[in-house]
Amino acid sequence: MTGPVLTLVIATRNRHKVDEIRAVLGDEFRYLTLADFPDAPTVVEDAPSFAGNAAKKARELARWLASKGPLDQRRGWWVLADDSGLEVDALGGAPGVHSARFAALDTGQAGNSPDAENNAKLLRRLAGVPLAQRTARFRCAIALAPVVPGEPAVQMFEGACEGRILETPRGQKGFGYDPLFEPAGFADTFGQMQAGIKNRISHRARALAAVMAGWNPDQVGPRR
Ligand code: IMP
Repeated sequence: MTGPVLTLVIATRNRHKVDEIRAVLGDEFRYLTLADFPDAPTVVEDAPSFAGNAAKKARELARWLASKGPLDQRRGWWVLADDSGLEVDALGGAPGVHSARFAALDTGQAGNSPDAENNAKLLRRLAGVPLAQRTARFRCAIALAPVVPGEPAVQMFEGACEGRILETPRGQKGFGYDPLFEPAGFADTFGQMQAGIKNRISHRARALAAVMAGWNPDQVGPRR
């Protein structure tokens, strides 16, 4: 990619995700996050797939940014939205798109659940399931939407990381289900790994590698 520096608005309030995305994509871009836009609308993540939610977040935030003030000040701006989660085979793919509020599905509480509650529920639901049947994967969908007048053309990328869910948590690094997830081929959980290793093998790292390989910043409108 060449030309003027592009601005990526990372559509999340999750500090860990921002750090991982910036660590993988590097210094080539100027970064903003939702923390820079406190009045940005909250997008309801009600799509049945990671890709659907990521596209919805990217599209809605790009439209909102385009509606705010002179667009020539937002030239070269893109919204990067990530939607991700854990699929556990023994649970038929749950928690899936509900990963962030897995525990709250039982209580009906609004908003995301604390990581500790999600992890405790996961262990409860997998009680008695032998290690060999605790296969799982993290998935990540990334949507990139240009901040342009009219309907933004969204470009989509995906990554996955296979592994299994342990019977007890290990490690305090990372976030979410990291202490319970042991990626295939590794003896450590994501919660034990140095960030540099997670950022080479994770679902998000793989989706971001796909972004770097396939994103076309010149394609800002619908294909004709
Ligand atoms: P999102 O913010 O809607 O994408 O929610 C993603 C949820 O999936 C998070 O709240 C975590 O529970 C889980 N998740 C996604 N990526 C990771 C990861 O890299 N490590 C641990 N948990 C993750």
